[in-house]
Amino acid sequence: MAILDCAIIGGGPAGLTAGLYTTRGGLENVIMFEKGMPGGQIMNSSEIENYPGVTGEISGMDLMTPWPAQCQKFGLIHEMVNILRISKTDDLFTIHKEDGSTVDAHSVIIGTGSSPRRAGFAGEDEFFGRGVSTCATCDGFFYKGKEVAVIGGGDTALEEALHLAKICSKVYIIHRRDTFRSAPNTIERIKKTENIELILNSVPDEVYGDNMGVTGIKVKDNNGDIRDIKVPGVFTFVGNDVNNQVLLQEDGSFLCDMNEAGQVIVDISMKTSVAGLYATGDMRIEAPKQVVSAAGDGAVAALRVISYVDELLN
Ligand code: FAD
Ligand code: NAP
Repeated sequence: MAILDCAIIGGGPAGLTAGLYTTRGGLENVIMFEKGMPGGQIMNSSEIENYPGVTGEISGMDLMTPWPAQCQKFGLIHEMVNILRISKTDDLFTIHKEDGSTVDAHSVIIGTGSSPRRAGFAGEDEFFGRGVSTCATCDGFFYKGKEVAVIGGGDTALEEALHLAKICSKVYIIHRRDTFRSAPNTIERIKKTENIELILNSVPDEVYGDNMGVTGIKVKDNNGDIRDIKVPGVFTFVGNDVNNQVLLQEDGSFLCDMNEAGQVIVDISMKTSVAGLYATGDMRIEAPKQVVSAAGDGAVAALRVISYVDELLN
């Protein structure tokens, strides 16, 4: 196969937008490697109401469905395959596919996202996207004036609980210990917030509901006692895994620089520490973890890639 001008890894909002801008911007040989259906993790969301210009009730799937066709119109090719690794020798990247084959590329835009960890309680998977959420910015507004539960005791859980407390009538924080893994001033703010109730030394036992979604959560404390809390929304913030495995090299090092949390370090143009390699969306440092910002990253990276490839080849 001919050397690709650009290989895009991941077909979420970041990868698809990178595909749109690279192909429409004149690169002719671009493949987007996406292991599943293009669209990304927002496809799991039953409703999105903060994508600019898209009003009314729309599901994540409805939002994303037109994106691949728009890209394909300008020549983007989608290959449905899991990418195991990206390596680089001199100026050339090699994309290692799960089927054992490889393809070379002059540039790479990676947008493999991140995966919120699941806490592992009964009903969590069944009701994910129907009352169980991992995104307060996205879904908090659906519970305006209602009570919700937050699982976790780290910075994310406490900060998101403070955000939810401004929207919801009451927020229960369910944490498995009696001390938090969070900044002291955040803990102070939590304690001072009247509509937050702490349920400590406790873990979720089961989230339950009906075909409309979640109606409550059963929480078990250290003594095994169960408390039943009637809430329509449960937010789990038990940590995040960056999908950075494709950057892992055979010698155990990573292809480019990352921070301690495994997020790829980029500059304002999404350029990584490796020339020709750009990282976009949820996997990069300081990602706002929103569809609109992931799409913006994809556009920024694509515009830079067009210049990079032009300079490399001419
Ligand atoms: P992703 O969307 O995660 O896409 C990454 C893609 O890469 C995936 O399709 C994955 O299959 C693919 N991939 C990963 N590894 C490989 C590999 N090795 N080989 C090939 N393909 C690979 N944001 C909002 O703005 N508003 C909302 O209301 C909102 N609601 C949300 C609700 C839920 C339930 C969730 C989970 C998220 C929500 N978000 C929302 C956040 C939003 O979905 C993300 O910020 C956004 O999707 C990030 O886009 P991305 O392209 O960086 O990554
Ligand atoms: P985290 O620090 O790993 O905290 C995860 C929390 O979830 C912990 O309290 C943990 O309990 C709990 N937990 C984990 N698995 C669980 C399970 N299966 N069931 C119930 N509870 C479970 O994750 P994070 O809060 O997302 O933060 C990640 C990193 O980003 C941290 O370094 C954090 O400091 C940083 N961060 C910083 C800021 C900020 O600086 N403003 C904001 C957000 C995040 P235990 O405590 O018992 O382990």
